[in-house]
Amino acid sequence: MGVFPAQYPREILWAMNILPVEIWDPPLEVSRSNGHLQSYICSVVKLGLELILQGHCADLDGFLFPHTCDSIQNMASIVHDYLGVEKPCYFFYHPKAPYRDSSRKFYRHELKELITSLERQFGPMDPEGLKQSLERSREVASLQKEIYRLRTKGELGVSNADFYRVIRLNEYLHPDDLIPLLRRFIADGRRADRARKRIILSGILPNPPELLALLDGLGVRVSDDDLLNCGRRLLAPPAGQGDPLQALSDSYFSMPPCSTRNSAIEERLSHLMSMVGRSRAQGAIFCTVKFCEPELFDLPQLVEGLKGNGIPVLLLDTELNQGLSGQMSTRVEAFVELLG
Ligand code: SF4
Repeated sequence: MGVFPAQYPREILWAMNILPVEIWDPPLEVSRSNGHLQSYICSVVKLGLELILQGHCADLDGFLFPHTCDSIQNMASIVHDYLGVEKPCYFFYHPKAPYRDSSRKFYRHELKELITSLERQFGPMDPEGLKQSLERSREVASLQKEIYRLRTKGELGVSNADFYRVIRLNEYLHPDDLIPLLRRFIADGRRADRARKRIILSGILPNPPELLALLDGLGVRVSDDDLLNCGRRLLAPPAGQGDPLQALSDSYFSMPPCSTRNSAIEERLSHLMSMVGRSRAQGAIFCTVKFCEPELFDLPQLVEGLKGNGIPVLLLDTELNQGLSGQMSTRVEAFVELLG
């Protein structure tokens, strides 16, 4: 199943023998999607729609659209209502902050609705299968946390490029394939990190890859991240034991703060500050996707808050898969020099 960003209960899909394949930044030349979208739309949406329009989704049995932001929501309407794509489309609405008791009821209701609608196509879900999925999910989460922990402590000697190449396998690999790879990555990478400087990275996803390569070349380690498709969802406490729907719901409500879930700015700022502190970062880079509304709303206050606390900040507004312009590379280099 093709899944658009960002948060969804993948354990339910695994339990129904469905492999979620997330669609974030497929490496395509945008041509056809421009005819369906306004020019001021983020490239996550442009590239995702392009993937469908170019016929690369023929092997999929359906699409899942979480209600991440208005842009994803509108793309879901285009795909479902107007394009004549002959594939089932599923929708997952998760509540936005501030959270109340009713939000928890709503979330459980949405989980049940998703199961019921998937069962119409894929057959009944085995409740034991869901428990096993949750177990696998806990195993994946604990390995990912260990990888992040080692990096934060300076005990993972791998490049930024390699780190995110492995972390992003999570977007499409089944846990049975992912778990051994993560174990091997930890075993092979566990050594003192020799990077000279450390920064935290915030934004949507680690793209363009040229940014990671440039940081590697400058001897700068991303020591922690607040990226929507990485740390912001992978570092949530995984669903625990007991009733699976309750466990999934508890996990959702303890995710790190995020612009796409309407988290308060103060919460986001204190989360970033604690990240800087525990990973001993000397600065922060916000690598945002151009026209990403949820992030752009939070950005001015986050930048001001970090600077007010003495943390140097660099803002990069990028298009996915478009590389780094010479001007941007110079700005990154100047910023790194400033870190002392
Ligand atoms: S980049 Fe921003 S606007 Fe685009 S899909 Fe992601 S959250 Fe939505």
